[in-house]
Amino acid sequence: MFARGFKTWCETISLQHRRTLKLRPIDPLDPQVVAKSLGVRIHGVDEIPGLDPRAIQTLLHDDPDSWSAVTITNGRQSVIIFNSSHRGGRPASDLMHELAHVIIGHEPARVDVTEDGSLILNTYNRDQEDEANWLAGCLLLPRDALLWIKRQGLEPREAAKQYGVSVAMLQYRLNVSGVEQQLQRTRASVRKRT
Ligand SMILES: [Zn+2]
Repeated sequence: MFARGFKTWCETISLQHRRTLKLRPIDPLDPQVVAKSLGVRIHGVDEIPGLDPRAIQTLLHDDPDSWSAVTITNGRQSVIIFNSSHRGGRPASDLMHELAHVIIGHEPARVDVTEDGSLILNTYNRDQEDEANWLAGCLLLPRDALLWIKRQGLEPREAAKQYGVSVAMLQYRLNVSGVEQQLQRTRASVRKRT
């Protein structure tokens, strides 16, 4: 369960970011652009100087599906490190998820390197993950965009591509935002009147 008002706050934040970037409420939002406006740097794991080659080997080749992106900070500057072995629709939503943690102000995970060179990630708790997921969904697909997609009759695959998300993410947002139900009610009342 989210704190009272959290979902409304997320929609507001999503609109605010578009306004700041001179975008319309229905426009797709590129996580790279959001990162830039927040002063957050983004790097592939293979671009991190000084990272033990054995750690890179583990992260990109031995166990590439176990992680997608992680945010680290030195207190002033946040850096998102993403899994450069992932391609396709996934990186955009992974990056937006990490940016959502930053926007909400969650304490970023710390990366510790043990003496034998292995990485330890102190991750966020369950509530923080749920909050970041919800905000990332709102940032990528706010209600205005969802209504626009439905009213234009855009094919799910085409809409997902435009907004940099998976079809599953689009369907999920249509359900949880209440947009699907809202349009069904409108259609039902139009039928009643005619
Ligand atoms: Zn997270």
